[in-house]
Amino acid sequence: MFEIVFLGTSASAPSVHRGLSSQVVIHDEFRFLIDCGEGTQRQILQSGLGFKRLNRVLITHGHLDHILGLAGLLSTFMRWDTIDKLEIYGGQWALDRIHDLIYGIVLRGAKPPMDLQLIQITPGLIFDEDDFTVTAFPVWHRGPDCFGYLFEEKTRRPFLPDKADELVIPPGPWRRDLVNGKSVTLPDGRPIHPDQVLGPERPGTRMAHVGDVGRIDELVQAVQEVDALIIEATYLQEESEMADQFAHLTARQAAELAAGAGVKHLILTHISRRYRERDVLAEAQAIFPNTVVARDFDAFQIRRGECMKVEQVKETSNSK
Ligand SMILES: [Zn+2]
Ligand SMILES: [Zn+2]
Repeated sequence: MFEIVFLGTSASAPSVHRGLSSQVVIHDEFRFLIDCGEGTQRQILQSGLGFKRLNRVLITHGHLDHILGLAGLLSTFMRWDTIDKLEIYGGQWALDRIHDLIYGIVLRGAKPPMDLQLIQITPGLIFDEDDFTVTAFPVWHRGPDCFGYLFEEKTRRPFLPDKADELVIPPGPWRRDLVNGKSVTLPDGRPIHPDQVLGPERPGTRMAHVGDVGRIDELVQAVQEVDALIIEATYLQEESEMADQFAHLTARQAAELAAGAGVKHLILTHISRRYRERDVLAEAQAIFPNTVVARDFDAFQIRRGECMKVEQVKETSNSK
């Protein structure tokens, strides 16, 4: 299961109700901040997520509405040492700009308040953890080096406790080894093969996040049959020329991509102040009914074939 919490869902400039691009993807103890538009640190506080373990940032591209918040975040980290390591992943162009922002403006010769790493990525696998991977794929948007991110749980075989009970396998290390696919010899001398207690392979949850993007044809393969696709929808079809000019999508194009790639659920973000949310939703749903438009602080749990909106605990204000 992956959870995604939207911190900012506005395109280009903030609106009264929407902050600039940022979201957190959570999987067990792992947290990834995707993009960090201006104002993100306050959204993190207000969402109730806090800064702990928020030490991996994935950048989709280097436009200011996706990176300026890194300066404020760093400046706060210089006052409180909440984390000892911060890794920022992105394409070279984005990292150059982030380097200027952090080292030229925020630090100006001072040492980073933590072990700070700017890590250049190229398309392919960027994280390979025990039970999930993150893969970067190329995305076409004005500058070079823009990326989408695919989060995938690894395929696994479920442990069948009924079978284990039938075989009288005692609790303890034998069961653990069998879960991990290792043959064991029980205390009474019987050998047990994992096939005797594991069910058929079950594919894991897959979720794709795409930031700003101007073309959908190259994405069909990358987001094929994901359980949830999170993608921008900056324009409506009535202004498709402008969408083209600025290398953004219309709600209809996002929906066409979802339909063409066999996606299960579509979550739209990067919403322009020019439109009403319901018009964006209606345009997309006409083509792909399983669409929602994200709002700031919306949280979704993504499981195999399922995308469920959940309540996010928000910090309450005590100010008088
Ligand atoms: Zn943007
Ligand atoms: Zn952009």
